[in-house]
Amino acid sequence: MTTPTWQETDQYIVDTVVGEDATLTDALGANAAGGLPAIDVSAAQGKFLHLLAKSVGAKRVLEIGTLGGYSTIWLARAVGEQGRVVTLEYSPKHAAVARTNLDRAGVGGWVDIVVGAALESLPGLETEGEPFDVVFIDADKENNSNYVQWALRLTRPGSVIIVDNVVRGGAVADPETTNPQARASRDLLELLRDEPRLDATVLQTVGAKGWDGLAFALVTG
Ligand code: SAM
Repeated sequence: MTTPTWQETDQYIVDTVVGEDATLTDALGANAAGGLPAIDVSAAQGKFLHLLAKSVGAKRVLEIGTLGGYSTIWLARAVGEQGRVVTLEYSPKHAAVARTNLDRAGVGGWVDIVVGAALESLPGLETEGEPFDVVFIDADKENNSNYVQWALRLTRPGSVIIVDNVVRGGAVADPETTNPQARASRDLLELLRDEPRLDATVLQTVGAKGWDGLAFALVTG
């Protein structure tokens, strides 16, 4: 037998431990029908976010980059109806698809979608006072360092910050890269190294979404 591909292996993992979920499959179908790009996290990654949020007992989650709400559903299920997810989305069209998906998934009651450029929405969250337990950053990659700086203002020691797509097919390790998103990843990793209130690592990932990776940072102070 030839070695299975990343995609085939991801499918095997989903079939074996993640499981079929009609609600989530329907959300992806609604995204496609609405013309949204298929740039959501994979099923295995969504389950990982869900379990991570559950394992830290998260009640308040901030997501930057909603798209059609696929990752939002995973996170909202983790916090439960006593919790809250605030998700920031630039595109009104994406936000409208997400609202329908979230309501259909039965989690819309505890998810707020804030439409607009995230850097303009984030200051409004500071006035709420209560810190977020988990922040998932998955929007315009060029602003990742700005988003992590904001996450530091909106979290507490013990909170967790995850930034998706920081490896970019290995381009992050190329000091000569001119790719703006890879350059932003390099800046982000230097911030994670230098910021004394964060302790961080990066996990490379392969699978349905190709070769990439996510940064995982613990807020320590
Ligand atoms: N987290 C989603 C998921 O896994 O289902 C995928 C998010 S998709 C990779 C990135 C989203 O960020 C897009 O919907 C895009 O419109 C949004 N976005 C891009 N720039 C943004 C900005 N400046 N502020 C808020 N959202 C932004």
